[in-house]
Amino acid sequence: MTSLRDLPSVEQLLQGATQLIETYGRPLTLDALRLALDEIRTRFRATPEAGLPSPDAILAQAASHLLAWTKPTLLPVINATGVILHTNLGRAPLSRAAVAAMKEAAEDYSTLEYDLEKGQRGSRLTHAEATLQKLTGAEAAVIVNNNASAVLLALAALAHKKRVVISRSQLVEIGGGFRVPDVMKQSQAKLVEVGTTNKIRLSDYQSAFEEPTALVMRAHRSNFKIIGFTEEPELGEIVEVAHQAGVPVLDDLGSGALLDTANYGFAHEPTVQESLAAGVDLVCFSGDKLLGGPQAGILLGKKDLIDKVRKHPLARAVRADKICLAGLTATLLHYLKDEPEREIPIWRMMSLTLDQLKVRAETWRAELGQGEVLKSESTVGGGSLPEECVSTYVLALNVGSPDKFLKKLRQASSPVIARTENDKVLLDPRTVLNDALLLRVLKGVLSS
Ligand SMILES: *Cc1c(COP(=O)(O)O)cnc(C)c1O
Repeated sequence: MTSLRDLPSVEQLLQGATQLIETYGRPLTLDALRLALDEIRTRFRATPEAGLPSPDAILAQAASHLLAWTKPTLLPVINATGVILHTNLGRAPLSRAAVAAMKEAAEDYSTLEYDLEKGQRGSRLTHAEATLQKLTGAEAAVIVNNNASAVLLALAALAHKKRVVISRSQLVEIGGGFRVPDVMKQSQAKLVEVGTTNKIRLSDYQSAFEEPTALVMRAHRSNFKIIGFTEEPELGEIVEVAHQAGVPVLDDLGSGALLDTANYGFAHEPTVQESLAAGVDLVCFSGDKLLGGPQAGILLGKKDLIDKVRKHPLARAVRADKICLAGLTATLLHYLKDEPEREIPIWRMMSLTLDQLKVRAETWRAELGQGEVLKSESTVGGGSLPEECVSTYVLALNVGSPDKFLKKLRQASSPVIARTENDKVLLDPRTVLNDALLLRVLKGVLSS
């Protein structure tokens, strides 16, 4: 009669587990073996007639626990959705130069806060600043963790317990719980709403300035549109009446494009240069939206205001790390060298021609021997250009159950994220960086 006493001890199993110990370390391997033994005991008590597994089978059971425990959760995926800045898929993929700069900053010591000339402490704030000054003409810049923290920091530093005037049409929620009124509350700025949801006039601002006001904020409606019976002054006009009242203007651009998206067949997204030209005192935007860099918040504009922002205690709490600064600087250099379309993946995707997209979709169809090439639409996404699409060609696959097929694609060793439309699975070449890899996955799933 087999009994639980026939089970090998943990010590005995450890002797045969040298490979696992080498890969996972002794303490974790021990945990896995104990768990495997517990499971086997429980199973044996329930169904003793099934007998006990061999020592090798026990080790295999422990190995599968170890694999599960150490499996990375942040995995690369192939984005075949055609959404260029897919927030859930990590927004902007980075340029080779940005990746190389980040790797270099990560691997060794760096001049993060060190002045090589003087041989003494320097400032991390200098890193992307000169490039941003050159690109935009702004007097000064500060880089923080993301744009949400840039807004919070600017409000806290410039308008603590003071009035901030903002149009009712701009009290937006960006997503992930980032709501302009809530951020104001956190910064302890006093929200002063002017105008109505659809109509806002210069006189609304002017009346608000009758009481002492620290700041006017404009928040870009990144993810929705107001259409119909609407009216809103130009940014330049708002700046003019604000400056007449001695009030600085903060423009939260969200995406902060440095290039004009209209040149690529997309709707026009306000650019950083336009805001500054309109006379805005401070502009803030994300590093990983239309800039195409790593997650960051960029705040730039008048030096006296930036200096105040830098001195605020929150600035330390939300500062950018060295890896971000390295990647951001490398990304900005692409703009300086007039090569974003060639080097920055999201601009490369936006500048793809319909012909190029069609050729790729047709190549995919030929390689797979199935599907049809259809005209469809790609979007920018990521809180940029709401509702705005641009034409593309997709490979549409007719599969038995599209949802099951999508699931299989997600479960592939290189997961593929795609979308369905009219019971077809659509694959958009625009956002796919590695066609060969995609085809390998598709062939595998189609033949399974
Ligand atoms: C996206 C966005 C933010 C938040 O930016 P993160 O970099 O994601 O923190 C803030 N304001 C606007 C207008 C945005 O579009």
